Amino acid sequence: MTVLRRLPVLIAAWCAVPAIAADLFVDHVNGYTLDSAGKLQRFEAMLVEDGKVVATGSRAGLAGRAGEAEVLDGKGRTLLPGLIDAHAHVMGLGIALRQADLMPTKSLDEALAVVKRHADAHRDAGWVQGRGWNQVNWKLGRFPTARELDAVVSDRPTWLERVDGHAGWANSAAMKLAGIDKDTKDPPGGRIERDAGGNPTGVFVDHAMELVAKTIPPMDEKEAAKVLDAALAEMARVGLTGVHDAGVDAGSVALFKRYADAHKLTARLYAMIGGTEADFDRLAVDGPLSGYGGGFLDVRSVKLYADGALGSRGAALLAPYSDDVHNKGILFHTPDEMTAMIAKATGKGYQVGVHAIGDAANREVLDSFAKVYAAQGGKDLRNRIEHAQVVDPKDIPRFRALGLIASMQPTHATSDMNMAEDRLGKARMKGAYAWRTFLEQGTVVAAGSDFPVESPNPFYGLYSAVTRRDHDGKPPGGWYPQQGMTLPQALRAFTLDAAYAGHAEKTLGTLEPGRFADFILIDRDIFTDEPARIWSTVVLETWVGGKQVFARPPR
Ligand SMILES: [Zn+2]
Repeated sequence: MTVLRRLPVLIAAWCAVPAIAADLFVDHVNGYTLDSAGKLQRFEAMLVEDGKVVATGSRAGLAGRAGEAEVLDGKGRTLLPGLIDAHAHVMGLGIALRQADLMPTKSLDEALAVVKRHADAHRDAGWVQGRGWNQVNWKLGRFPTARELDAVVSDRPTWLERVDGHAGWANSAAMKLAGIDKDTKDPPGGRIERDAGGNPTGVFVDHAMELVAKTIPPMDEKEAAKVLDAALAEMARVGLTGVHDAGVDAGSVALFKRYADAHKLTARLYAMIGGTEADFDRLAVDGPLSGYGGGFLDVRSVKLYADGALGSRGAALLAPYSDDVHNKGILFHTPDEMTAMIAKATGKGYQVGVHAIGDAANREVLDSFAKVYAAQGGKDLRNRIEHAQVVDPKDIPRFRALGLIASMQPTHATSDMNMAEDRLGKARMKGAYAWRTFLEQGTVVAAGSDFPVESPNPFYGLYSAVTRRDHDGKPPGGWYPQQGMTLPQALRAFTLDAAYAGHAEKTLGTLEPGRFADFILIDRDIFTDEPARIWSTVVLETWVGGKQVFARPPR
């Protein structure tokens, strides 16, 4: 009797199983995702449960399984997997958003006007800070000077970082505070710009930046939270659901953890510890951290630097710069030091990503990885070379042999194109910004922006990757267009392969069942639209783990 009475209930419950297996039904979308094999798949609807994708398919096929799930009506708009930036600087973005932005300036006068406006608007700030200047864009033919800066801010110390973060421009007040004068020597790996009499003129390159930067008071906890909030909001706005943070200190890791605990992270952060010194020793006590806070924070990677940047001629080259024939740039470490740092981090189970721009730096890093693998292994940690910007063509196959990921930034190519050939000459361009060559040999290319060096907008990156043109469409055929990616290749580099570079391709990067429901709705179909318009794509909504983290306000 008991059994009979219970039976209908059991049947009802059993019948209802497919219907209650979702809490979000994403209906009526023009959906795209790659599958694990990298093949492009289409869908019209998606079921999500507990923050993860249950199924994608046709509207008719999935509607019957949606049950009581909340419905997101996509109104036929295009849906993509959330984009992942494999190399960026989260706190740097937040700081940049709260500083004078010199990136768009086209002349020294314009830059000085921006600095003056910012200084006047932030009278309470002790230091006037900014970033993004590039004397090449100003057609200045030289670095700017402290005296020029004094003309707009003389009463407060002022420090402005160059667009690549590899040089800083100080006013006289900042130099005075830092105690810099004629007798200050260039530190190892750094250079102070000087006049004919040996007097510092206001620009500090690479390791010389510290001489001034160390006098800036560190930000307090309240300001750090404001900075992170600003960065997270911007990332959500441009459709980034994951970011690999290329070099963080212990303070940032603690802040990220607090945000993860409080469910305040709106993008998944893959933090790379900056260096193998005190912060690494402290953080490595508990070993690598994976999937913390419900898959929102990973700390299982270390960021190292082999050299500087091309713009400031700090990138280490095998042969001298074509436009500075006595200068080969600067290697930050001896080969033995580099090998020891990699061995230390990989020995503790941490992935290593080494910044290497010049061909000499890339070779040093390749040699070091080869030595470490031979001595103690570690190849399975999916180690990476960050930027891999100028590589001797002879060295490119070594990326594959060593199983190294090329972590590259498509927008660097289109930002650098007017400068790179001056620095390198035509012959060296063969192994420069050579994404396609890496892809064709089977190397995983993870794409990023290096924000705030570049805009965080991943559609700028997709556009550069495909067209190798700037936003004005120049040059018309693309810059070394044979190195351009197809759009599916570019999407893969910003999703599946960026996830792979963070050991997360089983949970992120595609919208296959079991993956986190991280996705965006955009205002156009980039696969059918003109490639020339990809960069102006507008993100309408951003969802992370099945929760909306951004919606563009209606106009
Ligand atoms: Zn970087």
